[in-house]
Amino acid sequence: MRVGVLALQGDFREHIAAAEACGHQGIEIRTEAELSSIDALILPGGESTTIIHLAQTFNLFQPIRDRIRNGLAVYGSCAGMILLADRIIDGAKDQKTFGGLDITVRRNAFGRQVDSFESDIEFNGATLKAVFIRAPWVEENGEGVEVLSTAAGHPVAVRQGNILATSFHPELTADLAVHRYFFDEICKSG
Ligand code: GLN
Repeated sequence: MRVGVLALQGDFREHIAAAEACGHQGIEIRTEAELSSIDALILPGGESTTIIHLAQTFNLFQPIRDRIRNGLAVYGSCAGMILLADRIIDGAKDQKTFGGLDITVRRNAFGRQVDSFESDIEFNGATLKAVFIRAPWVEENGEGVEVLSTAAGHPVAVRQGNILATSFHPELTADLAVHRYFFDEICKSG
C-alpha cells in the first residue's frame, strides 16, 4: 500500500519507517496532490495546534477532512488522536480538528508532573510497552467507538470504522503491533 504520513511537524519519519518495516511504501504528505495518491494516512505525534495551523497554511485542512469522511483509513498517534477527535477538552482557544472520530479527547490528560512515561498495556490480545508523552486520553466516546486499550482507567486506543487512534507512540518503539493492526485489520477491510 501507499501509506501517507502527514509531514508538517512531529515524528512523521518514525511512522514512515514503521510503514516500510511492515512492507508498505511510506510517503511524506505536504500537498493535496500527494494526499490524493495514497491508500492510507497516518497523523503523527507532535503538537496538535501547530499541525492544524500548518495544515491550513498548506491548504490541506479541508482535503484531509474530506478524505477521512469519504472512508480513507487513517491512524493518529497522540497529537494525531487529538486531530481526529470530534471534541477537545483543554484545547487551545478555538482549536480545530479534522474530526471524524466520535470522542471527546482530553489534551495533556496525564498531568504536568508525569509529562512522559512508559506503561505495559494490552492491545488486541497482546501486551506492549506504550510510550506516553504529554498524552491525551479519551474522556468520553460514542457508541460506535470500540475501546482497544485503557490506561489509568481511560481509553488510550480506540477504533471507529476506518479510524484508529492511540494516545501513545508505537512509532517510537520497535514493536509494530499497532501499525500491523492498522494495515491488516483496518486498511484491508476498507
Ligand atoms: N500535547 C500534544 C498536543 O496537544 C500532544 C503530544 C504528543 O503528540 N506527544 O498536541
